[in-house]
Amino acid sequence: MRLIFILDDSSLSLNALSHLLEPEGYKVICLKESEGAVDMIVEAQPDLVLLDVVMPKLSGLEVLRQLKEREECAEMPVIMVTAMTEAQDVSAALEAGAFDYIRKPFEAIEVRARVRSALRTRDYMLKLRYLSERDGLTGLLNHAAFIRALSRELAEPVGGDKALSLVMADLDFFKSVNDKHGHQAGDALLAGLGELLAKAVGRSGEAGRYGGEEFCALLRGYDLGMAGRWAEAFRKVVEERDWDLGSERIKATLSLGVASMEGSIDPAALIAEADRSLYEAKRGGRNRVVMAGRSKGPG
Ligand code: GH3
Ligand code: MG
Ligand code: MG
Repeated sequence: MRLIFILDDSSLSLNALSHLLEPEGYKVICLKESEGAVDMIVEAQPDLVLLDVVMPKLSGLEVLRQLKEREECAEMPVIMVTAMTEAQDVSAALEAGAFDYIRKPFEAIEVRARVRSALRTRDYMLKLRYLSERDGLTGLLNHAAFIRALSRELAEPVGGDKALSLVMADLDFFKSVNDKHGHQAGDALLAGLGELLAKAVGRSGEAGRYGGEEFCALLRGYDLGMAGRWAEAFRKVVEERDWDLGSERIKATLSLGVASMEGSIDPAALIAEADRSLYEAKRGGRNRVVMAGRSKGPG
């Protein structure tokens, strides 16, 4: 169910708006007090905000500006609700990032149409964002989005025992899967591996497709040793699996390189470190894990 947050200092307006939106199947949260509203909106993560312009203490325009500064609200449309006499405010609100405005006294039919239009646009934006961040074959983060996620994670203030590791994984002799079984079978294997990786990473990190048959995982809270054990466990899961690719069942193995932010907090340097380890795993005979700064695997 779609959630609409209405902030207005007038109970009359709040009642009127919620009474004309609730029958449309929206869930509505009403708030009269603008002070502290921004945090409540961020917390509630509504699909749409209706914002009164003139309110005591914090004006609607000020609330709007604060909302637009929050990354969590980047795709949250805001419709300003304003009296006829406030044309200047309408212009300022649109400049500040409001999606649309509704004039008081409002017509029910118009309010509903503007709300539907804002929600439609939000859907497009979310879809676009998804398409721009995800790899089409595996649904994992694509190269650019993964590096952004890694950079964001590394840029966060380093707490006392903050740990973060990066794993780079590359399918062994994958070209021969394509050659023997065809590209569609190869695609199916990549998609299956992506699914397995996403599950293995779970909520403790991010999984990405670095490119081709190379995958990457960011593990929050994992030091080098923990990440090495995680990588070894994942290597085993892949090794033991039978991949059912339409007509035949095949086996596949992975080589993995692991690096940790104990070594570096620069994203490019961390990737290079994991990549070097991956290369070593390949040179050492494939189907193995190599941890940065250690000559042997996790043991
Ligand atoms: P190594 O063990 O050294 O990694 O050998 P490899 O064969 O896995 O590595 P190589 O780099 O020689 O070949 C990678 C192959 O991955 C070549 C390319 O055609 C294939 N590939 C890359 N992206 C895709 C894709 O999206 N789908 C399919 N089916 N194949 C892909
Ligand atoms: Mg390969
Ligand atoms: Mg490769």
